[in-house]
Amino acid sequence: MSIKKIFLIFLLLLIFPFDKAEALAKYNLPELSQIDAIKSNASVDELIDSIPAEGNLNDPNLLLVNPSNPINNQIEVDLVTSIEGIPYAANIEEKLSQLLQAGLEDGYLFTIISGYRSTNQQAGLESSRKQSLMAVGYSESEARYLTNLYTAPANATEHMTGLAIDILGQDWTSIGGGLTENYSETASAQWLVENAANFGFILRYPQNKTEMTTFNFEPWHYRYVGQLNAQFMMEHGLTLEEYLALIEERDRRKKIEKVKQAAENQAVDEAKRWLEEQKKTIDKLFYNSSTD
Ligand SMILES: [Zn+2]
Repeated sequence: MSIKKIFLIFLLLLIFPFDKAEALAKYNLPELSQIDAIKSNASVDELIDSIPAEGNLNDPNLLLVNPSNPINNQIEVDLVTSIEGIPYAANIEEKLSQLLQAGLEDGYLFTIISGYRSTNQQAGLESSRKQSLMAVGYSESEARYLTNLYTAPANATEHMTGLAIDILGQDWTSIGGGLTENYSETASAQWLVENAANFGFILRYPQNKTEMTTFNFEPWHYRYVGQLNAQFMMEHGLTLEEYLALIEERDRRKKIEKVKQAAENQAVDEAKRWLEEQKKTIDKLFYNSSTD
């Protein structure tokens, strides 16, 4: 084996593990076979071909926080406060007020119940819910399991991003309704499902997707992701986890395409060089034969 070949193999070994690690580093995402566009029945290939251009793994509005992708340090969030005194990320202020205004125009008055929560606040919430379940007789592990069906561990709630809000309509709160699944039957909850995406918000923990999100159905929990992203997810019936897996796959395919193209270009260059060489040889032969 030539020194050149050994060097090349060494170089490949050096590049590939890093390349793979880089590709896997961003998120822990579902397999493509788990992706299910429950509303459109579109295939993975069809979905990948129609991902909006703004779909980008590094978009801060698409930041994924869930039990498989916890964030242990506090996220720096620029906050504003709603009229109810609830803090949330300043960058969604305009879209959120447009959503609330559109609701009002259609006859629905909404109340924001919860927004940004620091890791410490979430840990306090988690522990108090667990304690109250243990107080009525559940074991520690049962209480933790039941709590985490609705309350994420402190490092796995997207409320820490300031991009998630819990929201209820007055048609529900006025009859004493709280954060329960029955809220989904009200007209205001249905209005949110139909309209939130136009303002960049998705129903983050839908019914029929509880295995994918690992959260129970939460008809009150909406998450800002940007308008085109939100419309794509809501149109197809996809969760943020599935959407990000599709974007990752699109990027992987693009990368492969690029490498293939580069290899093809190189092959073409080499073929051209080879032809040049042949031409020279033939010219030389011809020249030689004609002058001899
Ligand atoms: Zn929530």
